[in-house]
Amino acid sequence: MENLLKSTAERAAHYLESLDERSVTPTAEALSHLSLFDEPFPDVPADPEAVIALLDEVGSPATVTTAGSRYFGFVIGGSLPAALAANWIAGAWDQNASFTTLSPVSARLEQVAIRWLLDALHLPAGCAVGFVTGATQANFAGLAAARHALLARQGWDVEAQGLFGAPPITVVVGEEVHVSLLKALSMLGLGRERVIRVPVDEQGRMRADSLPPLDAHTIVCLQAGNVNSGAFDPMEAIIPQVKAAKAWVHVDGAFGLWAAAAPERASLVNGIEAADSWATDAHKWLNVPYDSGLVFVREPQQLHAAMAVNAAYLAQGDAREPSHYTPELSQRARGIEVWAALRSLGRQGLADLIERTCRHAARFAAGLQEAGYTILNEVVLNQVLVSFGDAETTRRVVAAIQQDGTCWCGGTVWHGQTAMRISVSSWATTEADVERSLEAMIRVASMVRQAAL
Ligand SMILES: *Cc1c(COP(=O)(O)O)cnc(C)c1O
Repeated sequence: MENLLKSTAERAAHYLESLDERSVTPTAEALSHLSLFDEPFPDVPADPEAVIALLDEVGSPATVTTAGSRYFGFVIGGSLPAALAANWIAGAWDQNASFTTLSPVSARLEQVAIRWLLDALHLPAGCAVGFVTGATQANFAGLAAARHALLARQGWDVEAQGLFGAPPITVVVGEEVHVSLLKALSMLGLGRERVIRVPVDEQGRMRADSLPPLDAHTIVCLQAGNVNSGAFDPMEAIIPQVKAAKAWVHVDGAFGLWAAAAPERASLVNGIEAADSWATDAHKWLNVPYDSGLVFVREPQQLHAAMAVNAAYLAQGDAREPSHYTPELSQRARGIEVWAALRSLGRQGLADLIERTCRHAARFAAGLQEAGYTILNEVVLNQVLVSFGDAETTRRVVAAIQQDGTCWCGGTVWHGQTAMRISVSSWATTEADVERSLEAMIRVASMVRQAAL
C-alpha cells in the first residue's frame, strides 16, 4: 500500500506540474488512446501499480485541464492544495459520514465548517446545513424543506402522503432561472413548467415590481449570481415583499453566495440573510474537489423533516446527524475538504480568492474592450460575456480559442446575442494567466476576423 500511494502521489504531482505547458483540451491523439481502456473484463486480478500506471498514462493526457489555471468555461473551480490533500487523507480514512457513530471526526469537522461558513457567508447562525453533492442537490434539499414547511402549515404531511391530493403550491422563478433549479422542482413533484416566471431586466435580474400575487403557499426562488452575467436578483427589494406574504424565499447562490465573503463584493448580497433557504456549491468558488455543495435552511426542523430517516438500527441520539440534512444516507466525508479549504484560506484568504478572481474577470473585460470587442454584461462578479461581432463570427472565434488550447471558454446566447462566456473561478489563476489568455483570445479573434474578410 505504501509504495502504491507514494508512486501515485508522484504521478499526481507530476500531472499538476505539467498543466502549465499542456493544451487545456486533450489532443486528438490523447483521446484516441482512450481506446486502450476498452479491454474485456479481466479474468484475473491485476497489480494495483499496473492499474494506476494505465490510468495515469492513458487517462491523464485525456483530461480537460480544469485543475489548471486557464480554464474559464462553465463555472469551474480548481482544488486548493489543502483541499486536495485533505481529500487524499479522507480517502485513506474511507469514512461513511452519514452518522456521528460512523465518523465522529467527520461529524465534528462538519460542525466546525458550518460555524465558519455561516460566518463567512453572513447567514443566520442557527441555520441547518447539509453537505450535498452540488448546487443541484442543494436546490433540491432547500426546496424539499420549503415544500415540507408550506404543506405542514396546511396540515399536510408531504413526506408521508406525497403530493397526490395535497393542497397546491405556487412556485415563482425568474425568467433566467438556472436549469438545475427546474430539475430540482421536477424531482420534487412541483413541476418544472408549473412555475410563474417573473420578467428580468437587461442584466438578467428579476424585476422587483413584477412579482405575481404572493401567499403562504408560494415559494419564490431568487438567484444570487446569474450563470451568464453574474448578476444578482435585488434581494433587498424582493425578500421583504415575499416575507410579508408569508411565502418562502429560496436562493440559488451556486457561486454568487460567496460574494458575501469579500468585503468589496458583499453589497451584492445585501438582504439575502432574510431568506429561508440557500443553495451553493463548494466545488465552484471555494475550490474543493468534486462533488461538493451546501444547503442552508433557516429553520433546522424544516430540512430535518424533509431529509431525516428513522430505523431501529440507525443511531438516534442528541447529536447532529449529517444524513438527517441530506438526500444521501451513506456519503463521502465532504465536510473534511470544506473544512480544510476554509482552514487554509482563513477569512482573508477567502476574501482574496473571491476578490482576485473578480479582478481577473474585470481585466478580461477591459482587455477585450480595448481590443475593440463588445462586453455585453456589467461585470459585477467573475463572469464576462463578450461578443466578437455577429453571431457567426463569435461562434467561430469561440471555436478557434478552444482549438488554440491556451485557455478554454464556452459559448452562450444571452438576450438574443451570441457570446463567449468567461468565468474566473479558480484559485490557481494568476495575473500572468489572464494576460497570456487575453493575448491568445485577441490573437485568435483577429485571425478569425481577417480570414472572414
Ligand atoms: C452551477 C450552477 C448550478 C448547479 O450546480 P451543480 O454543482 O452543477 O449541481 C445551479 N445554479 C447556478 C446558478 C449555477 O451556476
